[in-house]
Amino acid sequence: MGRREIFAGNWKMFKTYREAEDLVKGILSGLGDIGSREVVIFPPAVYARDMAKLCMNTQVKVGIQNMYHEKEGAFTGELSPSMVRDCGCAYILIGHSERRHVFGEKDGDVNKKVKAALENGLSPVLCIGELLDDREKGRTREIVKKQLEGGLDRIAAGDLDKIIIAYEPVWAIGTGKVATPEIAEETHLFIREIIGTLYDGKVSQNMPILYGGSVKPDNISGLHVKENIDGALVGGACLKADSFLDIIHVK
Ligand code: PEP
Repeated sequence: MGRREIFAGNWKMFKTYREAEDLVKGILSGLGDIGSREVVIFPPAVYARDMAKLCMNTQVKVGIQNMYHEKEGAFTGELSPSMVRDCGCAYILIGHSERRHVFGEKDGDVNKKVKAALENGLSPVLCIGELLDDREKGRTREIVKKQLEGGLDRIAAGDLDKIIIAYEPVWAIGTGKVATPEIAEETHLFIREIIGTLYDGKVSQNMPILYGGSVKPDNISGLHVKENIDGALVGGACLKADSFLDIIHVK
């Protein structure tokens, strides 16, 4: 059996409540037969519970874009892992580049969140990726390796089947500058090698690795045919049902 294929949509801080409902309804009505492909949407947290209800018994799963690792406490403005689960969500984005670079999350924070997600039965989508400056200085591999080692620190091999990796070069996110399929594939292969070194070849072969960064209906097919690209984490193009559906339905 091949690896899981996953198409995820990160809504970031967009949409009114009504627009959110319309978007989910549009995705559900156009989804059709997607075989074993998996679809996950990450709406703003305040809408997640209602979106999860709309998606109940469908092939669209719902996740939240961020959480805190603690169980409960005086952490104003934060969400706990069990709150994410209680919203009907089974997925959590962890270490998105905007969390890292706008809100200052470090690999240590990311690691605590990955652990907390797993302890609470959530599937983490662990996001990694280098800045433009890193790429220009030839440091992509070093950064990706550091983020993987940090994010997966002391995570047991038996838990790896619940984790999804999203490789999102920061220079490609929201910029319209998609990585070429060759650049993406090369880094995905490197990620697989690192996971193979940290764990073993089987874990690494089974790990879904999504590409993210300016994925659009007109560039997904070139990425999709690459052996080590197992789907996409989509930002801007997931905000319209038609374009997200075109990506999900890529041939
Ligand atoms: C993202 O938010 O993870 C993302 C990849 O955004 P975009 O598709 O807009 O580049």
